[in-house]
Amino acid sequence: MRSVQRYRTTLFVLAASALCAEGCGGPAAPSTGTPSPSTTRVLMVTHTAGFRHSSIDVAERVLPDLGRASGVFTVSHARTAEDVRQLMTPAALRDVAAIAFVNTTGDIGVPDLQAFMDWIAEGRGLIGIHSASGTYHGRPAYLDMLGNEFLTHGDQTTVEAVVEATQHPAVAHLGPRYRVFDEIYRFVRNNRSSVMPILTLDRHPMDGLPGAGEPADLPLAWTRQHGRGRVFYTALGHRDELWRDADFQRHVQGGVRWAIGG
Ligand SMILES: [Zn+2]
Repeated sequence: MRSVQRYRTTLFVLAASALCAEGCGGPAAPSTGTPSPSTTRVLMVTHTAGFRHSSIDVAERVLPDLGRASGVFTVSHARTAEDVRQLMTPAALRDVAAIAFVNTTGDIGVPDLQAFMDWIAEGRGLIGIHSASGTYHGRPAYLDMLGNEFLTHGDQTTVEAVVEATQHPAVAHLGPRYRVFDEIYRFVRNNRSSVMPILTLDRHPMDGLPGAGEPADLPLAWTRQHGRGRVFYTALGHRDELWRDADFQRHVQGGVRWAIGG
């Protein structure tokens, strides 16, 4: 199994070289079938009011490349507090299909958070990655929209996540189990009854927190409806190296595509 997995990963790495060549800075330009630029806009928010992940720099290169390669979405950026203030008003969001909170932390200064949540509920997409669940800790309505709240994490470790929604575009490429090394989040609650789980853990990770290796039911990635809006969240995405990994890139790309209805 291990060698099959490695072979499969190698194929994906080769396939993804067009998505993410040398630091993901270059344009994706396959020799045939180059997708036309999409007009479906995703606003990628990476402003942080708390801890700042170094992987944001990699993610800011990878996500636009994934959009170009998919041919179904185009990424623009809100990197600073001023960007968030200017680009997340209802007027500025008029031509945006989805927001991606990528390792945001704390109160990032969305001008009117309730208006933003209402805008999602009207039928837009929300993509939350990793510490998007450590954003707006004091705003239960935001955390309910996202589907859960970050509680804690232990040491970085390898887990074998259970792929629950085997047909979902974010995980369909992973097989029944997804072996991944990252910082593994714990959440305030088990949200199985209020979301559509797509990745879960059936054992506590070996990360130094209590219960290591014991049976569990822990959320790791999910989708949910927020009104007519579509929310995709994955707790993965801490490490720089993971953002360069082909399986993870397809996970994120599939999540974005689902959130924008593509
Ligand atoms: Zn982290």
